[in-house]
Amino acid sequence: MNQNDNQTALIMIFGATGDLAKRKLFPSLYKLFEKDKLSKNFAVIGVARRPLTNDEFQQSIKESVKTAIEKEDRIDEFASHFYYHSHDVTDSASYAALKNMASDLDNHYQLNGNRIFYLAMAPEFFGSIALHLKSDGLTDVRGFKRLVIEKPFGHDLESAKELNDQIRTAFSEDEIYRIDHYLGKEMVQNIEVIRFANAIFEPLWNSRFISNIQVTSSEILGVEERGRYYENSGALRDMVQNHLLQMVALLAMEPPIRLNTEEIRSEKVKVLRALRPIEGEEVNKYFVRGQYDEGTINGKTVPSYRQEPMVAENSNTETFVAGKLLIDNFRWAGVPFYIRTGKRMAAKSTKIVIQFKDVPMNLYYQTEQPLNPNLLVIHIQPEEGVTIHLNAKKAGTGMEATPIKLNYANKGIDGINTPEAYEKLLYDCMRGDATNFTHWDEVALSWSFTDKISDVWENHVDESFPNYKSGTMGPKCSDELLEKDGYFWWPVTNLEVNDK
Ligand code: NAD
Repeated sequence: MNQNDNQTALIMIFGATGDLAKRKLFPSLYKLFEKDKLSKNFAVIGVARRPLTNDEFQQSIKESVKTAIEKEDRIDEFASHFYYHSHDVTDSASYAALKNMASDLDNHYQLNGNRIFYLAMAPEFFGSIALHLKSDGLTDVRGFKRLVIEKPFGHDLESAKELNDQIRTAFSEDEIYRIDHYLGKEMVQNIEVIRFANAIFEPLWNSRFISNIQVTSSEILGVEERGRYYENSGALRDMVQNHLLQMVALLAMEPPIRLNTEEIRSEKVKVLRALRPIEGEEVNKYFVRGQYDEGTINGKTVPSYRQEPMVAENSNTETFVAGKLLIDNFRWAGVPFYIRTGKRMAAKSTKIVIQFKDVPMNLYYQTEQPLNPNLLVIHIQPEEGVTIHLNAKKAGTGMEATPIKLNYANKGIDGINTPEAYEKLLYDCMRGDATNFTHWDEVALSWSFTDKISDVWENHVDESFPNYKSGTMGPKCSDELLEKDGYFWWPVTNLEVNDK
């Protein structure tokens, strides 16, 4: 099969009138189309409940692409590949019509029977859609069939297992593409390249030279209109179980013997297996939680989490998590990986800071402040790049050391060269490359780690909630978590070595 064959496919998007489809999927597909990465032989069936004609649907595609992208010269040609099927996914009778439509388009566009089913819908429907796709014959194709499934993948290990069993009746593991859109981000993919393509880092990438690693993913936004979902999720399930643990796995894994899906996944799985389980009374020693109070963001007063729509007035849901992870293997024994994530924080930022151990002795004692440690900072969003913090001679007659920074800013920062995560992930899926999607083993191990923490938190009401003001970097207990070990969170904005 050549590469073009891989890109010939019928893409069925379930939830085609939803937010994700409009904001991310249609613009990303358009970008692929514009770059000729989509074969001319493709068609999309949008599936959702609302009755719409094909014309109305194509009009909505054009609008969503125009909202996201400035230059859309080929939009009419692109939109002509889109078809709509009004369908309640819980209504068994409606799948037969969908099957006929799919076969007609398969013939018309010569799609070789290749099908991608993208579930951009609420997770409670995932299992039953997969079962119907099989029982109603939509997966009986002569080409490939792939299932792309959005997060959340389950609510805990048990529900994730149940969902996995359901989708596995219709799709094999290698046909399932579980989206973790962080894995599509340029700089998350860059973690591997920085580590494995540079001779200067890998020899130092272990407990002998690294004192700690900090991963922060902070948001300024609150829960917005997602209160109903968030009340049942919280930051631990929404962010830690997937995105943060995936970043930790990429930072900590051994070099894979080859850069292919199986080898990379197997190294990531080993990291997750080596994660020290934190349970029972240990949870409060290693993890802290927070919930945002009112506060000021960009000069405006914003409400507390408990005042948000669809949120209980005495909610025990965490909007902030910080934790200390330990990876019990030869490379990482004793090195804390600190993670934190939260809503309504002071900055929107995803950053990784690798702090190296101090030099054995400070010869520059006359320097006004102690020598700063060397840091490697990987900026994931909103800016993309890498910074190395070093010490160098302060200009002048003396021999004082002063901190300096070597900066690399990814030129794609203006959004022209940096493809959206979804664009890359859709492209990977069409080519059959599942490297940047999560394997079931990773999902299961991550849930089994976070379940032990949620078990404790859900059974203990946190009386201190709300415990951080909106517009700050989280509760005091988060700083204390590091202070106990003699560290502090490196500030994420303008990560200046002199900031603390
Ligand atoms: P949404 O509520 O905006 O859209 C849901 C879609 O499902 C709509 O098209 C609706 O018509 C359709 N739908 C609902 N019930 C249906 C039924 N019975 N039959 C047929 N269609 C039905 O949701 P969203 O924000 O687009 O999110 C979709 C999925 O993507 C969720 O799993 C969500 O967690 C995940 N996700 C969304 C985002 C985002 O940015 N929106 C980001 C990450 C993950």
